[in-house]
Amino acid sequence: MFKIDLHVHTSVTPHAYSTVEENVARALKKGMEVLALTNHGPALPDSPHWWSLKNLRVIPAEVENLRILRGVEANVVDGDGNIDLNQSIYRGLDIVLAGFHPVPGYPVEPDREKNTLALIRLMERQYVDIIVHPGNPQFPIDPERVVACAKETGVALEINNASLVGVRKGSEKNCAEILRLCKENGNMISLGSDAHISWDIGNFTHAEELLREAGFPEERILNTSKELLYGFLADRKKRKPAVFENRHYFWE
Ligand SMILES: [Zn+2]
Ligand SMILES: [Zn+2]
Repeated sequence: MFKIDLHVHTSVTPHAYSTVEENVARALKKGMEVLALTNHGPALPDSPHWWSLKNLRVIPAEVENLRILRGVEANVVDGDGNIDLNQSIYRGLDIVLAGFHPVPGYPVEPDREKNTLALIRLMERQYVDIIVHPGNPQFPIDPERVVACAKETGVALEINNASLVGVRKGSEKNCAEILRLCKENGNMISLGSDAHISWDIGNFTHAEELLREAGFPEERILNTSKELLYGFLADRKKRKPAVFENRHYFWE
């Protein structure tokens, strides 16, 4: 069982129902070691005001034996690789997740080429640690090019457990293909429960099934150990993206 969950929402997001304290208490009860709090970036209409992200430092980095990572799940807002937060947040946060959600400026997009380029530009031009639910069929991609770019830029691709239980129908086949390519290419992957209520923290049941089927090596899953995860995050902070700019949104 994985004791690290890298994708959890709290109730400042209107469609999530547990507070930070409730999530932390549940995580401790479940024997979790690391919990990443990753609420949505401000482009998603159903997300908290961005000040909620800016003040994350008040949340303790550690409670008892649980390490809390202060993070975000940012949104792709255009085809140029921009997300809905100024990149200066990167240094203020422990972890940055990003990916597609239907947002104004980038609604549900069936154009595979456009989505593929948006993710490639995002990984090449911005600071991001993990691409969330790349298997989402609402935003089809060319998995081969995205996996190759993730490997080259050192970004992890996520297998999102919630996607596999229905919120993003049709993800399973795409996720299996992404896993196959990641295994072949030597990519790092990340597991996220995408819990919107505390009981779901650490629930990777469906993701684990796919991992088993793919025979995916444990040492390339960020959730396997704290050492692996912290090493990955430390390496990411040393990298310089090709373009350090974001003309969209907030956070000066
Ligand atoms: Zn998401
Ligand atoms: Zn999420």
